[in-house]
Amino acid sequence: MRGGAPGLVLRVRDAAEVAEALAFARKQPGVPLGVRSGGHGISGRSTNDGGIVIDLSALNTIEVLDEETRRVRIGPGARWMDVATALAPHGWALSSGDYGGVGVGGLATTGGIGWLVREHGLTIDHLRAVDIVLADGTAARASAEENPDLFWAVRGAGANFGIVVAFEFEVDVVGDVAWAQLVFDASDTAQFLESWGAAVEAAPRDLTSSVILGGRRPGQPAYAQVLTVVDSDDPDTVLDRLKPLAAVAPLLDQSIQIVPYATVMAHNVQGGDHQGQGEPHAHSGLIDHITPEFAARAADLIATGATYFFQIRSVGGAVSDVPAGATAYPNRSANFSVASFGTNASGLDEQWERLRHHFDGMYLSFETGRAPELVQQAFPGEALVRLRALKEKYDPDNVFRDNFNILTGDDVTPSP
Ligand SMILES: Cc1cc2nc3c(=O)[nH]c(=O)nc-3n(C[C@H](O)[C@H](O)[C@H](O)COP(=O)(O)OP(=O)(O)OC[C@H]3O[C@@H](n4cnc5c(N)ncnc54)[C@H](O)[C@@H]3O)c2cc1C
Repeated sequence: MRGGAPGLVLRVRDAAEVAEALAFARKQPGVPLGVRSGGHGISGRSTNDGGIVIDLSALNTIEVLDEETRRVRIGPGARWMDVATALAPHGWALSSGDYGGVGVGGLATTGGIGWLVREHGLTIDHLRAVDIVLADGTAARASAEENPDLFWAVRGAGANFGIVVAFEFEVDVVGDVAWAQLVFDASDTAQFLESWGAAVEAAPRDLTSSVILGGRRPGQPAYAQVLTVVDSDDPDTVLDRLKPLAAVAPLLDQSIQIVPYATVMAHNVQGGDHQGQGEPHAHSGLIDHITPEFAARAADLIATGATYFFQIRSVGGAVSDVPAGATAYPNRSANFSVASFGTNASGLDEQWERLRHHFDGMYLSFETGRAPELVQQAFPGEALVRLRALKEKYDPDNVFRDNFNILTGDDVTPSP
């Protein structure tokens, strides 16, 4: 999503080469350092201008470690659509995101809000261990038993602590799923958002839904595109789940297919080289419920034209079963993740400020801002205190600084 012209791209092939690349980068402390797995980071910090990029795309193996416990080992450079394809013959899947072109490294160090999130939780909730190269080049393993403090930090704030060279996940049994694409008349945008939110919260966990609005054309009504997965291949169950959702507003178009999960992940993926240009501009927030007040403010934002892509995704369900302090991921009680894309000139920042007080925490993967306060929003309260202490321990020289940097010591600006 972002253009860049790095001075040097180091295409590493294993953990030893990652350590070598890091040693080289450390000798040049003033030079930007990007860590790139799939290259889909929305903040765009996996590339830079004139700096070093450590490119992990060659570390893309997907290996079954144990059939019995459904344990798989995946390299950071693998793409989620390839993971889905590799797991499908076993009757397994791992909830990741909504787009199969995204890489494993960036998503699995931050959260992973995917098509099965209400039923199976975040991607990081399936993580059982990582192999990671630390800032000083040491190879470490982190799990509930080994370096548990590092394992806690990697699940939400991984980019600040090292370069993960392998992820071990416990995956789920998932067969064919229903893939529903519904288009609504959202002329009454606030009412639509509130009703959609209520329908999602009332639905059983096997339903995960997201809604996209924005880019309204003059003379045309406001449309909302609702994309939903129901984890069932039984048509009656699927209809039972989708009917309340279909009733939230006038339905203009609909398509429902029962397909392998891997097909959903391959949906809409474009191949070819990255074409990122310029600076992306997006903001993110987590919210417990789509209240009438929030829905009205969101409708105002959309009506201004400040956003060309306004998306609300389900979270909640199994995500909320995990205790809040169990990982560095910010807000477990949120039922929704909100993201809005605009341009610098579109006035998005001003509009977003008016929404901000509704949010409790923020998901870093949908944010592009660079203000230090954003890190406080992403890791509210005790989480940031703990992360700062761990940053001092694992990366005292702040080698991993280019993506939502957790500052320590004198670099911390006091809260206003
Ligand atoms: C089209 C699109 C759809 C998306 N949909 C979803 C979605 O449905 N759900 C969701 O949760 N997210 C989604 N995202 C966000 C996505 O999860 C993040 O942008 C993620 O960081 C991308 O991972 P990547 O490896 O492709 O990115 P990269 O650009 O390669 O990396 C992004 C950042 O992650 C860090 N990083 C990368 N690899 C490693 C590593 N091995 N070890 C430590 N740190 C690392 C670096 O700081 C880097 O700057 C989407 C993004 C896009 C562009």
